Amino acid sequence: MNFDTFDRDHLWHPYTSTINPLPTYKVRSAHGCRITLEDGTELIEGMSSWWCAVHGYNHPVLNEAIRRQLDSMAHVMFGGLTHEPAIELGKLLLDIVPPSMSHIFYADSGSVAVEVAMKMAVQYQVASGHPDRTNFVTIRTGYHGDTWNAMSVCDPVTGMHSLFGPALPVRHFAPSPHSRFDGSWDPHDIDPLREIIGKHGKDIAALILEPIVQGAGGMRFYHPQYLREAAALCREHGLLLIFDEIATGFGRTGKLFAWEHAGVEPDIMCVGKAITGGYMTFSAVLANDIVADTISSHDPRVFMHGPTFMGNPLACSVAIASTRLLLESGWQEKVRRIEAQLREELEPARHLPSVADVRVLGAIGVLEMTRPVDMAWIQKRFVEEGIWLRPFGRLVYTMPPFIIKPEELSALTSGMLKIVGEIPE
Ligand SMILES: *Cc1c(COP(=O)(O)O)cnc(C)c1O
Repeated sequence: MNFDTFDRDHLWHPYTSTINPLPTYKVRSAHGCRITLEDGTELIEGMSSWWCAVHGYNHPVLNEAIRRQLDSMAHVMFGGLTHEPAIELGKLLLDIVPPSMSHIFYADSGSVAVEVAMKMAVQYQVASGHPDRTNFVTIRTGYHGDTWNAMSVCDPVTGMHSLFGPALPVRHFAPSPHSRFDGSWDPHDIDPLREIIGKHGKDIAALILEPIVQGAGGMRFYHPQYLREAAALCREHGLLLIFDEIATGFGRTGKLFAWEHAGVEPDIMCVGKAITGGYMTFSAVLANDIVADTISSHDPRVFMHGPTFMGNPLACSVAIASTRLLLESGWQEKVRRIEAQLREELEPARHLPSVADVRVLGAIGVLEMTRPVDMAWIQKRFVEEGIWLRPFGRLVYTMPPFIIKPEELSALTSGMLKIVGEIPE
């Protein structure tokens, strides 16, 4: 059967119709910062495959890590067994996450990490004598994944609340902070969250948010003071603080993890996406002693979760190799260079009639449009320009691999400006 027909007729792609699917482009291979399509077209990668491929594709060090692990074992269950890759990765992670993080729960994907973190928060509250604290509070324009509880704390408008309605648990939503990362702090920004926590705090297990950078829910960068004040509110009212660093982790925002911009430590933290350099699905949930020990000293005295592929050795091995490579590769200098170039080269977009805002932080560059873009059209135009970008809604953005060369990045930014410039007001 012809590829185009089979893919179109039988394969469901993300957020896509089966009757009238968006076009897909068939990839033959990918190397470094380039994706090669079946017809030989080369595209410069501007998405890092959704935040993941920070070292680019087909990296010899990462390939070798998987090959070496494959020769000893691909997988063993983590119940009752352990292995060197899981231990090595754990040591490596504890060196780079907030100092109070001391316990690690490996999971399969970002969404599952969020489920695990939320479950951990509720079990902690039950264990500390607060069985009524079962709800959650978050901020709008967030994104935490597509599974049930993760979905319940995604932005209620851009998320799927209207569709799933009463099937979803009802959470508390504060407006997202309007004080920009690079602007001044408006002390009133924290008022709505203070009000919600003051009124409903006794029913709430935790505050969950993406620190500093809100990813897929709106690509917004907010002021570090918000995190400091939010953390103080949580402590005052007995809520746990969960940071979802699945998109922000591993250098993307200019810090190794985004909490460092504010110096505020969470009680529970989720990491994923770039953890394996984009090779395999994998995530980790980190918790401090208080959370772990409270759960473990009250009935049933265990944390009630255990995925089949927990601590998968192949994933752990490539995560070790990717994290070491990141730490040894001068990532900070690379991200700083990308940031400076994005700032300079995206700035002229501010004058385009269809562009409402331009913002850059770390290796993330965002053009916010005045209106949602026509996905099929814009995707085709980008491919014709030889670049790979995947806008959504009003957001045309790039988060390239850290290894991108200045001339490749220029091709991305000039392509963005050119195509976005073709859109009328
Ligand atoms: C992508 C993402 C998730 C979900 O991760 P999956 O691996 O797609 O399940 C959760 N939180 C944030 C902040 C993300 O960017």
